[in-house]
Amino acid sequence: MSDCIFCKIIKGEIPSTFIYEDDKLVAFKDIHPAAPTHILFVPKKHYATLNDVPAGDTIISDVTTAIQKTAKKLGLADKGYRVVTNVNREGGQVVFHLHVHMLGGRALEDKMG
Ligand code: AMP
Ligand code: ZN
Repeated sequence: MSDCIFCKIIKGEIPSTFIYEDDKLVAFKDIHPAAPTHILFVPKKHYATLNDVPAGDTIISDVTTAIQKTAKKLGLADKGYRVVTNVNREGGQVVFHLHVHMLGGRALEDKMG
């Protein structure tokens, strides 16, 4: 996926500061933050969308664990935060490399859209 911006970030071809990294995924700040904390959790393996994750793949569980650790580290675990994955165009997906948004640091509206 040589033209994928998130693959380039993961490979270090585009400079970025990783807030979290393990063998399965990285996390970095969203370039256009929608909240004081807006972090993207990005699998190292390129899946275009959530639809492309095979049954039995543990990546979403791995992302969940990384989000839990990050929420604790940032003091958001008890306060609260939001986790969102946009899927395809009507779902609001713009970057077609699976990623999970973590939003926090302000009171988030309770509506979904
Ligand atoms: P989505 O609409 O779910 O595909 O979200 C894509 C997100 O990636 C948007 O919130 C963008 O602001 C963010 N984004 C795009 N390019 C970069 C980049 N180079 N570094 C960090 N975040 C980015
Ligand atoms: Zn990619």
